Amino acid sequence: MNMQTQVLHTSPAELRLAADIIRNGGLVGLPTETVYGLGANGLDPAAVEKIFIAKGRPQDNPLILHIAEAAQLRDYCHSIPETAWTLAERFWPGPLTMVLPVRDVVPKTTTANLDTVAMRCPQTPATREIIRLAGVPIAAPSANLSGKPSTTTAAHVLHDMDGKIDAIVDGGPCRVGVESTIVDLTGDRPRLLRPGGVTPEQLLAVLGDLVIDKAVTAQISNDAVVRAPGMKYKHYAPAAEVIIVSGSREGAAAYIRRNFSAGSHVLCFEEELPLFEGLPTTAYGREDAPETLSAGLFAALRALDVPGVQRIFARCPEGGGIAYAVQNRLRKSAGFHIVNGDTE
Ligand code: AMP
Ligand code: MG
Repeated sequence: MNMQTQVLHTSPAELRLAADIIRNGGLVGLPTETVYGLGANGLDPAAVEKIFIAKGRPQDNPLILHIAEAAQLRDYCHSIPETAWTLAERFWPGPLTMVLPVRDVVPKTTTANLDTVAMRCPQTPATREIIRLAGVPIAAPSANLSGKPSTTTAAHVLHDMDGKIDAIVDGGPCRVGVESTIVDLTGDRPRLLRPGGVTPEQLLAVLGDLVIDKAVTAQISNDAVVRAPGMKYKHYAPAAEVIIVSGSREGAAAYIRRNFSAGSHVLCFEEELPLFEGLPTTAYGREDAPETLSAGLFAALRALDVPGVQRIFARCPEGGGIAYAVQNRLRKSAGFHIVNGDTE
C-alpha cells in the first residue's frame, strides 16, 4: 500500500477533512493527550481491517473505541454498571479506558471477537471534534508499527506510517505520553489491565476496590489465554536489548560502567547525568517530576531505536502515581529483564 499521507492541522476545515476521510473508510493519525492514535470508523470492518495491516498488528489484539461524550456509551455497550458512569463523570474526557459488554453494532474486527469492548473519551478537543463530525465512533490503537514504542509527536507517526495512511492531524506533542489506563468493569471486581494517566490511587479512591491484573506486573506468554489478547504481545520495544538496572544511583552507575561495551547506551533520569559522564547517555525526564518521565519515555526509546544501539541500560522509577505506568512500559520494553546494581 503506498499513498500520499496528508499532514493536517487543527483548523475547522482540516478537522472536517479528517472526519470525512474517517467516514469514507480511510485511516487518520490522531492527536490525543496519551499517545497518537491510528483512527478508522469503528463500525466499518473493512476500515478497521486497514489499521491492522498498516501497523502489522496481530488480529487477536482488540482496539479501543473512541467517543465524543459519555452518553454515547449506551450506543455501543450494554449492562453498563453505575461505576462506569461515576468514572466517566470523574475522568472523562481523559486518559481512562473502560472495558464493558459490547453491543452487536460493533463489528468483531474491532473487538477481536471478544464479547466486550474498550471505550474511551479522549481529552484532546480536536480529536473529539473529529469524532463528532464523522458521526461514528473511532477505533484507534496507538499509531506505531506493532511492537515498537508508541508515537507522541506527528513526526513519530510519519516515521512509522508515511505512505500507509490517508492523513495525520498534527496536534503537537502528547501531554501524558503513555497510553490510557484500562480498567475492566465486566468482572466481579474492577480490574486494572493497563496503568496510565489515571493512576491506580485515583481509581481506588472512586471504586473502593481494584484488582491489578497479572499482565501489569509480569510477562504473559504468547500462547496464554488472557482477558485482553493485546496484553501478551511484546510491546514498546526498540531493536536494542533493554536492561533495567535497579538499586541506588551509585550502585546502578557502577554496575552499568562495569558492563558497558561498544553499542551500549544509558537511559537515565536527568538528576543522574553527572554519574554517566563520558558514556553515551540520554535522560528522559526528571525522577522528582515523574510526569516528565511519562512525557519523555517513548520519544527517548524511539530515538534509541537506531542501528548503532544494541543494548540500553535503563533507570526506571519506583512508586505509584504516573510513575507506575512508566515502570510498566519500561518493564515491558525490557521483557521484564531487571538487574539490581547494588547486588549484581
Ligand atoms: P493499543 O494496543 O496501544 O492500541 O491499545 C489498545 C489496547 O486496549 C489493547 O492492546 C488491549 O490491551 C486493550 N483492549 C482493547 N479492547 C479490549 C477489551 N475488549 N478487553 C480488554 N482489553 C482491551
Ligand atoms: Mg499500542
